[in-house]
Amino acid sequence: MVYLDHAASTAPFPEVLDAMLPWFQPCHIGNPSSIHSQGVSARHAIEKAREQVAQMIGADPSEIFFTSGGTEANNAWFRCLTKHIVLTDEIEHHSISEPLKNACVCPLPVVMKYARVWSDGSVDMDDLERLIIENKKALGAVSVMWVNNELGTVNPIKEIGTLCKKYDVPFHTDAVAAAGHVPIDVHAYNVDFLSLSGHKFGAPQGIGVLYISNRIRKEPWVYGGGQERGLRGGTENVPGIVGIGKAAEIVTKRLPRQMAQWAHLRDVFLNELSVEMDGEFHINGDTDRRSSAIISLTLPGVNSESLLLLLDQQDIYLSAGSACSASDATTSHVLRGIGLSEESVACTVRISMGFDTTDDEMRQAAQGVASAAHRLKVMYS
Ligand code: PMP
Repeated sequence: MVYLDHAASTAPFPEVLDAMLPWFQPCHIGNPSSIHSQGVSARHAIEKAREQVAQMIGADPSEIFFTSGGTEANNAWFRCLTKHIVLTDEIEHHSISEPLKNACVCPLPVVMKYARVWSDGSVDMDDLERLIIENKKALGAVSVMWVNNELGTVNPIKEIGTLCKKYDVPFHTDAVAAAGHVPIDVHAYNVDFLSLSGHKFGAPQGIGVLYISNRIRKEPWVYGGGQERGLRGGTENVPGIVGIGKAAEIVTKRLPRQMAQWAHLRDVFLNELSVEMDGEFHINGDTDRRSSAIISLTLPGVNSESLLLLLDQQDIYLSAGSACSASDATTSHVLRGIGLSEESVACTVRISMGFDTTDDEMRQAAQGVASAAHRLKVMYS
């Protein structure tokens, strides 16, 4: 099997599973709010994880709040808005744009305004600054994702943070595709809110993080027993929290080596594909400012769904854009947003690597893609 859909979901590290397992067992189980020894040790485990996550992103542990995943984090920060306009762009994940259609998520009737994006998927900084100036009086926040999950393009987060600081506007970034892929330092980059999802960097599904800077006045988003310092009620997911902490520790240590390895694997794939397909493909996204682990590949004349089905028969698993909109049959808003024609969008696949992807898997994938594309071209010519 060659699984290259890690941007959709990647397996927990074995060390993460080892760290989590005791928290399901009778000798450890305990509600972190209980005052007996097992409750206290669960509380300590949570606080250790908070420190591990804080370290990964350059935050203070008091700024880390555990959630059920990236979607909840992207829904929750809106609660802290004190003005009603949010500046963003049209190629963010749906968990940024959709909450605003549901009035109960936000205390204010929020209005979204969109900065242009370049064809490589990065935000147009001049347009963003123009919109900040135009909307300054009612501007609640700027929200721009760190790494695009379909293209791998890295946004100029440091510059956006500087801009937001200059105009005194809170800055949110969806860093779901960035964690474990690029260095993150929220304090150095003036980030006020940041969303993370465990299952994208070696923790399990169903656990995430919202970082909220201590500069921001915080509002709860789940009401109940006052957990997570009153912001997110509900008994904590202790195994998940322990898991995301351990994963944060692992990816922080691995990061420089991992980035070099992904750049190498990308070359292996593209070299093999060039040999097999004689340049009959196009790579989307920025060539330099990128996470090398994500490759967006357009194969003119090759329908991506048919290609994925043929590859599936060979146990090669890729995806067409992102896997995040379970019931949405429309084509990728990201690829359309960077100006690809409907025809090109329908011919685009995403290859996304994991922490243990090998040279051999990348070669097999390139050969599989080339031979399946060839078969489809012959069938439909
Ligand atoms: N943001 C981005 C960029 C994502 O790729 C995803 C998941 N595909 C999310 C947010 C949502 O994360 P989760 O699956 O943890 O809800």
